[in-house]
Amino acid sequence: MDIEQVANEARRSISNFCIEECKAYCCRKGHLALTLKEAELITQNRIKEFKDRDIIIQIDEKNYALSLGKSCPRLSACSCTIHKNRLRPSVCKQYPIFVEGKSIRLSSGCPAVAKKLLYEFECKFLNLGYKLTN
Ligand code: SF4
Ligand code: SF4
Repeated sequence: MDIEQVANEARRSISNFCIEECKAYCCRKGHLALTLKEAELITQNRIKEFKDRDIIIQIDEKNYALSLGKSCPRLSACSCTIHKNRLRPSVCKQYPIFVEGKSIRLSSGCPAVAKKLLYEFECKFLNLGYKLTN
């Protein structure tokens, strides 16, 4: 199994906790970095309207940031309504485990990480020769 497969298995392992206990905290707080295509998907091609409401901030020609405020517009009852869409933001697909070269960054803001629910996988990452950071 390669590192992305292990990381995906780890992300899947917390999916019940995400919905039932955490209630999608990461879809309700902070900012998301988005490409133009991701911003179009999130706003359903209504970027200007979202920009006018300060929900989408344009960083440069290609990059945007979504201010989550109350919650992501694509969140419904603690589930992502675009979960299976291949254009779902890359940061959403990766969170809370980011593979960065030979390092694995676990988001310290994620309650599943804080509760050590990924401990089994942390050991697997180390055994595969990766360093853990947060
Ligand atoms: S913050 Fe962590 S535990 Fe909560 S929904 Fe997001 S990934 Fe799951
Ligand atoms: S796109 Fe989906 S996973 Fe990403 S913040 Fe919105 S609801 Fe959450």
